[in-house]
Amino acid sequence: MNTNVFKRNELLAQKTIAGLESRNMKGYYAASKEEALKIALDLIPEGSSVSMGGAMSVHEIGLSDALKAGNYDFIDRDAYEDKRQAMLMAYDADFFLSSANAMTDDGILVNIDGNSNRVSAIAQGPKHVIFVVGMNKVCSDLDSAMKRARTVAAPVNAQRFGLNTPCSKKGTCFDCKSPDTICCQILITRFSRHEGRISVILVNDELGF
Ligand code: SF4
Repeated sequence: MNTNVFKRNELLAQKTIAGLESRNMKGYYAASKEEALKIALDLIPEGSSVSMGGAMSVHEIGLSDALKAGNYDFIDRDAYEDKRQAMLMAYDADFFLSSANAMTDDGILVNIDGNSNRVSAIAQGPKHVIFVVGMNKVCSDLDSAMKRARTVAAPVNAQRFGLNTPCSKKGTCFDCKSPDTICCQILITRFSRHEGRISVILVNDELGF
């Protein structure tokens, strides 16, 4: 990343953090993936139960590996045959980790989900939610954030999972109603009713899709 973009992101992150705070959410700035990992681990006390939705950014900063290796009760849904049981355990966790498909520079988060376990856990359930968001996901307003989530993030995720959707084949959204659609629920998080529940770590790097 060139210096100008890095500096622009630094300023933009300060605006976004102020926006998050106006929405009863806590924002943190990390200049690198390493800093983001440190902030996340400082927020999660040892012994906590931790679950996550599909969140490439969480993997990319090394957080899932650090939690698996550390003194945490990491709920790995892939390790459970009974997926419903794993989802219910995730719903009751101390911490839920997620990325965002997009967010606005004044702190509104946008997430799209097929299975919908991720958006439901963001909305309610886990005691705390920590988002890890690369500055590439920060958009100027809600229309742009929705557009990014619908036309950039969702098609890439559909391709990644090999889903039988038009975007998986063509790389762009056809607003489909395919049985495999990844766009069943769209969650806009504009305020947190619960003080201290939602934290967002903004990372000055490109993370996820
Ligand atoms: S609505 Fe359908 S085509 Fe559009 S991104 Fe979602 S799954 Fe792909």
